[in-house]
Amino acid sequence: MSGIIQLLPDHVANQIAAGEVVQRPASVVKELLENAVDARSTEIKLVVKEAGKTLIQVIDNGIGMGVTDARLCFERHATSKIRHAEDLFALHTKGFRGEALASIAAIAHVELKTRQEQEELGTHIVIEGSKFVSQDVAVVPKGTSFSVKNLFFNIPARRNFLKSDNVEFRHIVDEFERVALAHPNISFILYHNGSEMFNLPAANYRQRIVGIFGSRTNEKLVPIEETTEIVKLHGFVLKPEFAKKSKGEQFFFVNNRFIKSGYLHHAVMAAYEGLLKDGCQPGYFIYLDLPPNNIDINIHPTKTEIKFDDEHALYAILRSAVKHSLGQFNVAPVLDFDR
Ligand code: ADP
Ligand code: MG
Repeated sequence: MSGIIQLLPDHVANQIAAGEVVQRPASVVKELLENAVDARSTEIKLVVKEAGKTLIQVIDNGIGMGVTDARLCFERHATSKIRHAEDLFALHTKGFRGEALASIAAIAHVELKTRQEQEELGTHIVIEGSKFVSQDVAVVPKGTSFSVKNLFFNIPARRNFLKSDNVEFRHIVDEFERVALAHPNISFILYHNGSEMFNLPAANYRQRIVGIFGSRTNEKLVPIEETTEIVKLHGFVLKPEFAKKSKGEQFFFVNNRFIKSGYLHHAVMAAYEGLLKDGCQPGYFIYLDLPPNNIDINIHPTKTEIKFDDEHALYAILRSAVKHSLGQFNVAPVLDFDR
């Protein structure tokens, strides 16, 4: 037999890609917030209803899009952020795959309103399951608003798989916190079912952490700082007495992107050696800035795992920086726990 292979139509390809990018409402939140950050916004508002099952809206005051781009942004591999393969190793943006909006639009009802500062009128587009429903010229504020409704309307299996509103909203808050912690200079607001859950004015790193986790966090924070040839490191670790049995607040950011790293976590744990009660883990907010060509972000669909060129050196630098701060702030007398 011959001739049985066919190219998939775009809307089918988009729906398949969507399965990777969009696992739950929180995935949409992450993508839209990151796009708003990339658009150089100074104020970002997230409006959520029923844990994102009925509405996820992100409103920003960033650069907006012109008419052509407003339409193009829903195409697969349509991105303004990279042009050449080399650019992948010089990334200064969160996005680069040009996949998120095409994926989201394939599995939801999406409404876009956007206007560039220099234009008097903006663009209003409605797209449902990859089909353009309407496009109009509209009077809209500067910046961009994406509303995503009826997520997974055409994939019932996914929709049924969603957890309770509590669980899904917790995932949304996690993503919101990660982006807000990575960008304290941007103001963020989160509304859920009409109530304001967070209102975070532009701030410094310490103020942002306190804004999210409460004023009592302030006294727990021990600053860390270290600059070497391969990394600039800053942030805070929590005093050992506030370590918890559960994971608690543990955040690594690489070039202002939240990442997970068991390896770096281990380095921090090593620095706390002898200071923690059995089974307890410290909290930390650690920011690492590295030259973009020394990391590879393109190894995982959600970009939360990355590859470092010089892992071992990074481990050693991180461990010693944390150890140094814990010692310097006089929180390091070896504790004598009664068991
Ligand atoms: P990526 O972020 O990887 O480029 P997306 O599908 O998320 O891909 O977005 C596609 C393009 O749409 C972006 O490259 C950007 O040019 C444009 N875009 C998306 N969101 C915004 C926004 N909030 N403000 C301005 N432009 C945006
Ligand atoms: Mg994006």
